[in-house]
Amino acid sequence: MTDEASHLFYQTRNPRPFLERGEGIYLFDESGKRYIDGSSGAMVSNIGHSNPRVLAKMKAQMDKATFGYRLHFRTHPSEDLAAKTAAMTPEGLDRVFFVSGGSEAVESAVKLARQYALTQGQGSRYKVISRFPSYHGCTFGALDLTGYDPLREPFAPMMEGMPKVAAPATYLDRDNLSEDERGLKYAELLRDRIIEAGPDTVLAFVMEPVGGASTGALVAPDSYYGRVREICDEFGVLLIYDEVMTGAGRTGKFLAAEHWGITPDIVAMSKGFGAGYAPLGAIVAPARIVEPVLDAGGFLHGFTYAGNPLACSAGLAVLEELEEQGLIENAARMGDVLMDELRGLMERYPFIGDVRGKGLLTAFEFVADRSTMEPLAPKLNAYDRLVELAYERGLIIYSRRTRGGTAGDHFLIAPPLIITREQIGEMMAILHDALDAFAEEVGL
Ligand code: PLP
Repeated sequence: MTDEASHLFYQTRNPRPFLERGEGIYLFDESGKRYIDGSSGAMVSNIGHSNPRVLAKMKAQMDKATFGYRLHFRTHPSEDLAAKTAAMTPEGLDRVFFVSGGSEAVESAVKLARQYALTQGQGSRYKVISRFPSYHGCTFGALDLTGYDPLREPFAPMMEGMPKVAAPATYLDRDNLSEDERGLKYAELLRDRIIEAGPDTVLAFVMEPVGGASTGALVAPDSYYGRVREICDEFGVLLIYDEVMTGAGRTGKFLAAEHWGITPDIVAMSKGFGAGYAPLGAIVAPARIVEPVLDAGGFLHGFTYAGNPLACSAGLAVLEELEEQGLIENAARMGDVLMDELRGLMERYPFIGDVRGKGLLTAFEFVADRSTMEPLAPKLNAYDRLVELAYERGLIIYSRRTRGGTAGDHFLIAPPLIITREQIGEMMAILHDALDAFAEEVGL
């Protein structure tokens, strides 16, 4: 069926086939064609598709109750999932609030920060600084924090316009600084921005610890993370980590923050937290932030479906699977294997200018010239073409053209955390084939 015959409308016209079923890292369409889910959908399906243990636990909950409104009942799945989440996140992050998706998580984090500031007599603080480029979601509040012009511009007059600071895209810098110095340079840009905005008006700084769709798995130099934490502390600015994509083990730790020993003030999670088994997200914060808000009358916030027992039973089963199958450790190990393979691509394809990532959140970026890092000509539509060539060959990858909304095609390779070494080989063989076809098609 073409979408002209469909009552459902999508963001764009949708020529894709109907999905039939999933199994592990694979998806099958109605014709029986098999695809490797090389991007876990949109970095969601962390434990793979149709995990029988998760389905059985969901079924057991379904047989009891699928919904009980939280103002009428507490439920064991939501209490148990909160306890499990608190146990898996760094010490101190022990209070959990459920939502149903990533944009909701980011907005909830900001609203909790604002209400906390009010309890501290800091009503002047309302500005939330975010990075450019970045992606924090599609609802108005989350979009206002998103640093990606094509998504913002049509709606800009309907948003306030929160301050932005450059994300540490150090792979584009051509200076003589060491990696450490570069990290500090970008952190100081945040300090400048806070001072410029007026420190007593700045509520929070929100960042993706490893970039996702916006920057293509951008990892900052190590020095950046600690210095940003210090700067936030210096000015009493709350540090919000948007771990919607990176959380729940994707980068080889439960939270990416753990790679740098950072404890953010509030963490937003979704995607891999429900892992495609249920729409689920959460914010996690310390009691010192949550308790004053509850004492002052409560968090003025909540989504009807949030924390429902069915979604929470799925989330709990997903976290148990991560732990029992050692999937976070596997993400770290297979991430190293995948990164080596991607580095190998740079030897073979001169139009690949950078390879980056952490754990199983990895990316490569196309350039016209490695010495200048000038992007490929937009008219080549590389970000679309390579995805199509891979799709035809049974591999799903995820692409974006960003670099601050101008140009620069990057491709995210982020398979389910259950992937094996052999399956990485299988995925890379298709990717090579697609890259060869792309090179031939555009004459590179
Ligand atoms: N934050 C980050 C870092 C994301 O990658 C995304 C989605 O891609 C979101 C927020 C928004 O999540 P959702 O699409 O579930 O609303």
